Amino acid sequence: MAETKQFKAESKRLLDMMINSIYTHKEIFLREIISNASDAMDKLYFKSLTDDSVGMNRSDFFIKIEADKDNGALVIRDNGIGMTKDELENNLGTIANSGSFSFKNDENNTADDVDIIGQFGVGFYSAFMVAKEVQVRTKAFGSDQAYLWKSEGVDGYTIEECEKNDGVGTEVRIILKDDTDDESYSEFLMQWKIKSLVKKYSDYIHYPIKFDMEHDHLKEGTGVDDVPAEYETTVETETLNSMTPLWRKNKSEVTEEEYNSFYKEKFYDYADPLKCIHVKTEGTATYDGLLYIPANAPMDFYTKNYEKGLQLYSSGVLIMDKCSDLIPDHFCFVRGLVDSQDLSLNISREMLQHDRQLKLIAKSLEKTIKNELKKMLTNEREKYEKFWKTFGMQIKFGVYNGYGANKELLKDLLMFYSSNEKKLVTLDEYVSRMKEDQKYIYYAAAETVDKADALPQTEVVKDKGYEILYLTENVDEFAVKILESYEDKQFKSVSDADLDLDTPEEKEEFKKLSEESKDMLEEITKALGGKIKSAKLSERLKSHPVCITNEGQISLEMEKTFAQMPNDQNVKAEKVLEINPNHEIFGVLKSLYDTDKTKLDDYSKILYTQALLIEGMPVEDPLEFSNLVCGLMVDKK
Ligand code: ADP
Repeated sequence: MAETKQFKAESKRLLDMMINSIYTHKEIFLREIISNASDAMDKLYFKSLTDDSVGMNRSDFFIKIEADKDNGALVIRDNGIGMTKDELENNLGTIANSGSFSFKNDENNTADDVDIIGQFGVGFYSAFMVAKEVQVRTKAFGSDQAYLWKSEGVDGYTIEECEKNDGVGTEVRIILKDDTDDESYSEFLMQWKIKSLVKKYSDYIHYPIKFDMEHDHLKEGTGVDDVPAEYETTVETETLNSMTPLWRKNKSEVTEEEYNSFYKEKFYDYADPLKCIHVKTEGTATYDGLLYIPANAPMDFYTKNYEKGLQLYSSGVLIMDKCSDLIPDHFCFVRGLVDSQDLSLNISREMLQHDRQLKLIAKSLEKTIKNELKKMLTNEREKYEKFWKTFGMQIKFGVYNGYGANKELLKDLLMFYSSNEKKLVTLDEYVSRMKEDQKYIYYAAAETVDKADALPQTEVVKDKGYEILYLTENVDEFAVKILESYEDKQFKSVSDADLDLDTPEEKEEFKKLSEESKDMLEEITKALGGKIKSAKLSERLKSHPVCITNEGQISLEMEKTFAQMPNDQNVKAEKVLEINPNHEIFGVLKSLYDTDKTKLDDYSKILYTQALLIEGMPVEDPLEFSNLVCGLMVDKK
């Protein structure tokens, strides 16, 4: 009997964590064991380049997986460099040398543990998530003696001499835990499961991963006419992995069809992507990348369940399924992967966040995506508009977020509907066709393009022949306010207190009229008891009697948006009731001011509510409004 040795303290903790893991994707253990095997073969292969005694070619290396159903064991074999007795002791008895893990927190923090397992796996020990016992039979290159390492977990391990007749290399035998109500470990012996796990996590390991696939066939001559069907099983050794990653190939070697089907298979989309971007770069950031812009937003895209991120590979081995640091929020709709040889397989999550290389890659990706979108906008307008309708909101949030930190990058990608033809236009297009005397980029905010178009405030701007951008989504006006200007042209809302449209003479005349109506306007303001900041005569209204505009930074549309937020802080626009001095109603109000102030007060309330309705704002006191209108009707009789 071999002597039982104790694991080093840290190893014991890691092991304990594995054995009791509540992590739901235990399947990643296979990836870890396979990638160790691949590393061991790399080592022997490199040795073979300088040492003839190895006597092996690149094509001689392979991994073999076996499902030993009789013993409930999964076996992973390689013909790599193997381990000596000392190496077994040092490598599997302690993880102190492995870069894969460092204990930062002394508390038993299960949430963090799960995170670490999920993001990186934790090497060899992850086998203990599924194993009740692990056996490693290995023969090192240059040694005649093989050794067997065995462990059932935290109680320790044994090492003893053993036979190994199939040459140098390592065989990892994972004796699976018994199935429970919640977990099926025996599933890892099913050939479809093994195949799909290899495809999922290790497809691009550059050595073949072989497996003896069993196929059931109808025996020849049976199952026809009256001969009863009989089946036989044949075994065929298959290579489960494709070995050359699509992204490592030259662009000229890959068809659009291949790019698309890779996308659909890998990212579970039923539709072809709108765009595929194949990046190959060398220099400050060396990586290959495959980026996809989906045609449709995933179901959960605009919910907080959506997780952005790209798959991250280090030299062909998947190290993270959703690396969120690779993709900025404004491009979070991009799916895909990045493969870089500059990243270590065993880099920890915390280290990764601060990794200089990763940051360089992320910067380079951001630039690439921006340029590709810009190219699409210029060359494939229809496609871009489809993109915009699906993901444009995200770009607009990107402009607004972080106090406009990314507005320079994103502003050329923006599109809004406009009063010209009610089609989407870019800011560049808007500015390039501005009228000679036009100072501002005008916009109107409302729920829909039609509602914006019908706003009384737009009339006077349209009359001048100026184009108006119609902002129909909550985020729009916030984004525009952060942008401030585009190509030195400031944005201006058609509801802004000062539209700055009239000639000096017009202004003079208007001032005079306002002066004369001052007392009446004050009476109206008083009648509305704090609902508005002031009532004034309107320079902008043409045919409508009244409208509501705002002073200050908060517009009416913004007030609506704030009201919808879960933590409504009752943010209000400073409302101004504008009255059209050229409308009949103005004369009526004037005479009421002299004859019947009570009626003037009632009319003020009605006009104010009408203005709210036109704006799409809620009526503050529907009952009062209804009574007032009824009163008018009765009066008429
Ligand atoms: P890591 O792979 O991060 O170093 P692991 O815990 O997965 O950590 O493995 C520890 C060490 O055990 C490896 O670094 C390697 O030296 C050795 N090892 C594991 N599997 C094999 C194998 N199949 N062949 C040879 N050595 C191996």
